[in-house]
Amino acid sequence: MRSLHFLFGDQLMKDHPFLVDFDPEQHRLAMAEVVDAASIPKAHKKKIVLFFSAMRHFKQACFQQEIDIEYIQLHKKDRCMSFSEALDRFWTDEAFKTLCVMQPGDVAVENEFRAWCCKHGVTLEIVPDPHFYTTPEDFSSFSKGRKSIRMEYFYRNLRKKYKILMDKEGQPIGGQWNFDHDNRKSFGKQGPPEIPPIKGFEPDKITLQVMEDVDVNFSHHPGTVKGFDYPVTPQQAEIALEDFINTRLVNYGRYQDAMATGHTFLFHGRLSSSLNLHLLNPRICVQKAEEAMIAGAPLNAVEGFIRQILGWREYVRGIYFQMMPSYEQLNALDAEEDVPASLWGKGSTMKCIDESMHHVMEHAYTHHIERLMVLGLYAMLLGVHPQKLHIWHMALFADAIDWVSMPNVMGMSQYADNGYLASKPYCASGAYINRMSDYCRQCQYDPSQALGPKACPMTTLYWRFLAKHKERFANNPRMTMQLKNLDRKSVTELDAIMTLGDQWVLKERQNL
Ligand code: SF4
Repeated sequence: MRSLHFLFGDQLMKDHPFLVDFDPEQHRLAMAEVVDAASIPKAHKKKIVLFFSAMRHFKQACFQQEIDIEYIQLHKKDRCMSFSEALDRFWTDEAFKTLCVMQPGDVAVENEFRAWCCKHGVTLEIVPDPHFYTTPEDFSSFSKGRKSIRMEYFYRNLRKKYKILMDKEGQPIGGQWNFDHDNRKSFGKQGPPEIPPIKGFEPDKITLQVMEDVDVNFSHHPGTVKGFDYPVTPQQAEIALEDFINTRLVNYGRYQDAMATGHTFLFHGRLSSSLNLHLLNPRICVQKAEEAMIAGAPLNAVEGFIRQILGWREYVRGIYFQMMPSYEQLNALDAEEDVPASLWGKGSTMKCIDESMHHVMEHAYTHHIERLMVLGLYAMLLGVHPQKLHIWHMALFADAIDWVSMPNVMGMSQYADNGYLASKPYCASGAYINRMSDYCRQCQYDPSQALGPKACPMTTLYWRFLAKHKERFANNPRMTMQLKNLDRKSVTELDAIMTLGDQWVLKERQNL
């Protein structure tokens, strides 16, 4: 019984099960550069280059191992619009009996495959994705009967299970499970220390062709192909990991949350896209970080890095498969605004937004704190519809795949799930941005002012947000301090803040 094995652009591991078990008598392998996947929503040009270049390199590596993959390549005159169309083209008269895929990281894609198979009377086989430490079933067993499903306990279980950063007595190395309190340093007035440049990769012939194809076919998309230097093969991804471990990990922990003008990457590794395309194996990342610790790297940095991979990444994937499809409909804070033009890189009067958006438009990337505590924060304070923000994130960020974007944006950043994922909304005023960056020093607004000609929009909107949702958060112990501070404001001051905040929201609405 022959089977068509379809491979996705975010599952490009060199030990892909379809390659390991490949039998040319039984299997046909297929991949396609699908226009809809790059256009709905309109993806940043560098994101499309990353995916299509990594896919073409994957195909070439298979060819060198004499594994033939049928491949639909983007062409101006012959564009494959959807996965369904790709399947129509691959499904020839040979009459395969089964269509086989590895668990897609996007429920909508899985549904499209299911619908196509249903229509054509074909059996769909979905095999588990061995890239991850855990399966959706593991997460279901973990969460069964628990009132609260916090990442911390999920992460601790995995540390114990895989004996990662554990001592011989079964206790966490260093005597504690996390070192978050050591990982919140800003650069202060003197600015960042010398930062090693991010490891980039000169585009080869394949990538240059993709860049040209993207420029021709997606000319109206945001961003630019110029300066593309992402890793596009497993070998490059491992070099980038090695470079991060050797040059940046030492400062990664303490400056994890810091921001600085002119610095997109700081001490972050830009490894998320390599991980999410499966170019990089998470086990290798964890192993290299543990080895670095033995060689002297600080524990707070190593633990912070491992927590992102073993903890957060596995946890949000668990949430995604457990909660979809209902998760994408959630909107606990009744947020209805559109994504403002300023978050599409159209310019704003706010230095923090402009600086962060400059990084996004240039690199299809910002590090997590600019996403969460500048761009995501601003969207939440404005009241942007959470699903619209998820679509925005999917469009502009090279590492965004549905499984990782949905819980991060809707749950962590926008509190759309009413605290299922995060125990409190990540709301802050301009004071936070002032503490963690040098942005406010170059801004026309004053982060300490909620009213007046120099009122910082973040600060005004922060108090407006708290006042609007006061009742909802009244019983949340983690919000007590913020609500107490709100109570100190007089009715007159609060009225003026609400009016100014409403005016700002209206202005952003009119700027669309
Ligand atoms: Fe952003 Fe306010 Fe700081 Fe300006 S003053 S950079 S708007 S937080």
